[in-house]
Amino acid sequence: MSFSQMQLPRPGRVLLLGGTAEARSLAARLVEDGIAVISSLAGRVNRPALPCGEVRIGGFGGIDGLIDFLRADRIEYVVDATHPFASQISATAVTACARVAIPLLRYERPGWISHPDAAMWTWAPDHLAAAAAVAPDARVLLTTGRQTLGDFKILADRAVFVRLVDQPAFSLPPTWSPIVARGPYDLVAERVLMQEHRVDTLITKDSGGAMTAGKLDAARELSVRVIVVRRPDYADSAPTVRTNDEALAALTG
Ligand code: NAP
Repeated sequence: MSFSQMQLPRPGRVLLLGGTAEARSLAARLVEDGIAVISSLAGRVNRPALPCGEVRIGGFGGIDGLIDFLRADRIEYVVDATHPFASQISATAVTACARVAIPLLRYERPGWISHPDAAMWTWAPDHLAAAAAVAPDARVLLTTGRQTLGDFKILADRAVFVRLVDQPAFSLPPTWSPIVARGPYDLVAERVLMQEHRVDTLITKDSGGAMTAGKLDAARELSVRVIVVRRPDYADSAPTVRTNDEALAALTG
């Protein structure tokens, strides 16, 4: 028997903090199961992929803003299914939920630490350390996103191919080239991209998931060095689930 067939108590209205494929998948599942859910997106990218059901877009205005929203919308459960590196909104959710005594569930996709090649990669504690680990003559594919570019300015004299979802709104160093693209990125396309630009170093963060994992396999095939930024540690911040079924069980159990 699936969760959708089981007679379980329904949670009250759920706020689903999203912006990820996992959040969209969970939103679809909650809507299908008749659970009242409102998904929240930051509004950072143009043309965001929209989840099923009710959606709101834009920041809440910090902890107080989120608390106001939780009260005004009579939210009874919050699920934080934001990206593993979206640490600000996750911290806000922890504090706001604690203050108004609303249960918080964290939905986090597994990282790439269990990837078969993980032991061969250079693991950096943060983006600055990842930048510092790059060799002087490297040709870099940088895939850590627009907000982290400032941490890589020591690479301003190196050939850096910066993959971004939208065109950068600011000028890049002369030796940097933007590659505007939106995932998922498959192995074949990643291999072509790395070959075309003669990339020898890939910098990524430990986002996990399948949608952006093709570059890791392409890097292995082409002997491209991989530098991975470790993800923030949210251990103990909230009960954590990794699948829709686990999330449903937590919400309805
Ligand atoms: P962040 O640094 O943790 O959040 C910055 C601010 O953006 C938050 O303080 C909040 O503003 C607002 N915000 C973030 N997520 C929100 C949401 N789901 N709903 C409403 N407001 C939100 O987040 P970020 O790293 O910029 O990521 C922004 C969004 O993009 C997240 O929803 C995340 O899931 C998604 N995303 C992020 C990455 C990444 O690599 N970081 C990758 C893919 C997708 P207020 O303080 O005003 O409430």
